[in-house]
Amino acid sequence: MNLKSISLLLLSTAAVLLVACGGSDEPVSSPTPYPAPTPTTTAAQPTPTPTKEQDKPEPRNPLTPSPTSGAKPTPTVSSNSRSSPVPTFAHAPIPSPESTIVPTSDSQSLLREAGPEVIFHNGVVVTIVNDRPLEQALAIQEGTILAVGGNEEILALRGKNTNVIDLNGRALLPGFIDPHTHLLNERMFWNMTLEEAQDLALRSGITTIGNPFANQEILSELQGLENRGALRVRTNLYLSYNDNCGQVFGHWYQGQPPIIEQDRMLRIPGVKIFSDGGTCELRPAMSFDLPKDYVLAGRKGDAFLTQEELVTILVEVNDAGYQPAIHAIGDRAIELVQNAIEEAFAGMPVRVRMEHNLYIRPDLRQRYSELNIIPVMFGQIGTCWIDKVQGGVSTMGELVHPEEGLTTEGRTWVNPIRTLLREFPTLPIAWKSDSPYLSVRPLDHLYSLVTQRELAGDDYVWALPGLAKGTVCQPPWWLENETITVEQALPLMTINAAYALGMEEWIGSLEAGKFADLIILSESPLETDPDSLPNLNVLVTMVNGHVEYCAQEHGALCP
Ligand SMILES: [Zn+2]
Repeated sequence: MNLKSISLLLLSTAAVLLVACGGSDEPVSSPTPYPAPTPTTTAAQPTPTPTKEQDKPEPRNPLTPSPTSGAKPTPTVSSNSRSSPVPTFAHAPIPSPESTIVPTSDSQSLLREAGPEVIFHNGVVVTIVNDRPLEQALAIQEGTILAVGGNEEILALRGKNTNVIDLNGRALLPGFIDPHTHLLNERMFWNMTLEEAQDLALRSGITTIGNPFANQEILSELQGLENRGALRVRTNLYLSYNDNCGQVFGHWYQGQPPIIEQDRMLRIPGVKIFSDGGTCELRPAMSFDLPKDYVLAGRKGDAFLTQEELVTILVEVNDAGYQPAIHAIGDRAIELVQNAIEEAFAGMPVRVRMEHNLYIRPDLRQRYSELNIIPVMFGQIGTCWIDKVQGGVSTMGELVHPEEGLTTEGRTWVNPIRTLLREFPTLPIAWKSDSPYLSVRPLDHLYSLVTQRELAGDDYVWALPGLAKGTVCQPPWWLENETITVEQALPLMTINAAYALGMEEWIGSLEAGKFADLIILSESPLETDPDSLPNLNVLVTMVNGHVEYCAQEHGALCP
């Protein structure tokens, strides 16, 4: 291989990695940009009544440390050691919902007699609640969690109609929440129908998703599904202001008012805005020059919007009652968006999401906390490309900038989840799969978050071709430095992801009063060797207390 072909390989790898970094939002089945959403037939309807959830005084601002959170120790990261028996979940201090499970009326005695519909006992119940992180049993009544506790305490609730299920030491966890996946609208990658794509999510242990690209077409499809009672995964749509190529669709979204009711299977919490490239042959907006052969436009990548334009859009979106979710990959885009958020919402408790956040310059880290920004970050980031294509020597930083190169320090900008958690233990970082670009399976991402290794796959867009399925790819030092523990990772994949969607009072942990959205795993991930995390089996997935997936030969676990 001559120098030129090596350099081409390197650049094409860079392209893939950069795409991986943000590309998320390009359709798989078609090389053309997304079709512009067409206005709804009710385009003439007035601007939706602003519900302005985000404008209300927010009693639960997780960025205001609670009295106890200040005492929280810096999380100890020891990804290769087994977990301590009593985990501490280093997530944002999100309070438990007010429990309303004990009826005060005459119905109480009737309910008591019938008892909860289901009791799971004799298991490892991983609650994601710091007061009681591990329990043994859980009771379900009318689709919600009635109680969580020790075996005796929960079995005492048994009534004549209760189905009592022995977990036999298996683990019960909240269902995984993937706040940024293209599972539904890019299901053609797997050649699936909407129903089959939902099945894929459910058997992977996912009970709630956020869909970060919604035009009229997917909106109508999903509304149809919800109307038929066939939406089985809680689905949150972010309506598209513009697309990954920078094409602006504008205000069409205002024809579809936000839906933020917690008990709707189809919610519309927000609007998605692209601020920089990553796909569509456009590049993330960087503060430094990208390699000459790589860029297609400016050497510093492509920012789609000015700060002033961003401020206008953010204010409009928020005023109409939607949560802004802004794609920003490069450090220049992140800074631009942070500045716009500061200008638009200074002093207001607006819960803004930022998607990808792949190159976070050190001076930008503290601003997530200061500005109430939820960083939604990659679980996997393509370790196989970094490890195998460049022989374990080159880094993503070098690929981005092979001539001048990201400095050694610069490589530490890449997806710095551990660094952020160390510096800002209450920052509600949420993971995302960005499937089908990366694995749809949360357990693959948990493995990558904890080890930064990747198991080569063949069922996602950015799988490295030609590698035997299951090959273990090793991270370079700068990725290995960002490993976190299972205790740290689980909240990112549950309660913090719920927070990103505005649903933390109802899902994301196993607490009385929350929806019974849960999974049974073959073993507790807290007790699993990190290298075995991808091999854990999802045995049961429940949404709203209904079994939506039951693994073959595990019928005894499925009420
Ligand atoms: Zn995406």
